[in-house]
Amino acid sequence: MERCEECGFEYELNDAARAGQSIVEGGVEFAAVLGNQTLDLTTRRQAATWSPLEYGCHLRDVLLVQRERVLAARRTDTPSFDPMGRDERVEHDGYADQDPVIVARQLSEAARMFANVLARLGTEDWDRTVIYNYPTRLERPLRWVAVHTVHEVRHHLLDVRRQLA
Ligand SMILES: [Zn+2]
Repeated sequence: MERCEECGFEYELNDAARAGQSIVEGGVEFAAVLGNQTLDLTTRRQAATWSPLEYGCHLRDVLLVQRERVLAARRTDTPSFDPMGRDERVEHDGYADQDPVIVARQLSEAARMFANVLARLGTEDWDRTVIYNYPTRLERPLRWVAVHTVHEVRHHLLDVRRQLA
């Protein structure tokens, strides 16, 4: 089984049907951090590491992109995806200039929007495939895409909690 060495997340594909719920719960946790105005959310602790606000913007965009990818996989056989441009978006969307309270709301909504699309997958839809380019270029079932997105949420929660600890 795939496992993230950094955060310990394990890719249990049999849990894919619960991914939407996990993503919504993680979105609520992350939004609570972004909504806590006693925290320093905007300072980069290291020059090359995103601030909690920037991580929040990134995760919001991940959820929106993943939603589009799952929808694409329902109407097209084994679509391939360009990278989302994670680093370019920081500047192009001005992550550091956004309001954490608004990002918190957007993140929660993006999680629910993605979960809704996952909730509408039938048994056979979970086996539809995509060509996914990260971390390596491979054909993946939607089960993997869903579980990978849970990992994104959990991993980035760890990223920000480390900074705020
Ligand atoms: Zn991880």
